[in-house]
Amino acid sequence: MGRTMSFYDLRDAMALPGCPVCRLKVDAVRRHIDNLLWESVNDSGVRYEIRQARGFCQQHAWQLVETGSSLGVVIIVHDVMQHILELLEMAKFQPPPSNLRQRARRALAPSRAAPANADLLAELRPQAPCPVCVHAETTEQVLISTLVKELIGEDGLLAAFQASEGLCLHHLQQALAQTPDAAVFDALMSVQREIWQRLVEQLAELIRKEDYRFRNEPRGEETGASLRALAILSGPRISTVEAG
Ligand SMILES: [Zn+2]
Ligand SMILES: [Zn+2]
Repeated sequence: MGRTMSFYDLRDAMALPGCPVCRLKVDAVRRHIDNLLWESVNDSGVRYEIRQARGFCQQHAWQLVETGSSLGVVIIVHDVMQHILELLEMAKFQPPPSNLRQRARRALAPSRAAPANADLLAELRPQAPCPVCVHAETTEQVLISTLVKELIGEDGLLAAFQASEGLCLHHLQQALAQTPDAAVFDALMSVQREIWQRLVEQLAELIRKEDYRFRNEPRGEETGASLRALAILSGPRISTVEAG
């Protein structure tokens, strides 16, 4: 079977700490942002997408300033801000609807009453998802489908997966959703259960060593277990702006 890039990327990432899919997703986002700032910033289609999204989600917006291309960032935010300003300049006050139905709705659920300036609010809202999120999700989908397709069988990913720190909870759910048959399910689950069993034991060991009677025992492989568990439950820690 012809191996794709995703296969080798996954195999390499499985030799490193953390969920391999999370790691490759972070890498893909970094590359995409770099490309956006250095190469696509003058592409009118890309600029249109960013304008439609009203910029980026909070996480990816702050990742933009990590790469050091301040000109790219300036060009992008100038474009989006100019567009938002145009929307404000064309706007006129629009009172809340005052018909009977609206009054009835407000009586039933005050928070669901139709707001004033509904049309402007709809225009200010993102008209498309964050373009970096879209790229990240596409990457993730390709990786997960490669993982479940190539997990078992000759020279599959199973051995590398067994030696890895396993998937995070989010990516395990995605892998389960794409698992084609019971053989892949059994392989995936047995590796994942074994890895998490070990992690739970390490967490218990951390708690035990907090006891004053055992506090002087040397630290072992349980070091960092709580950070590993947080990354499994909530995704990897992504460094944003450095101090300053
Ligand atoms: Zn993950
Ligand atoms: Zn995003």
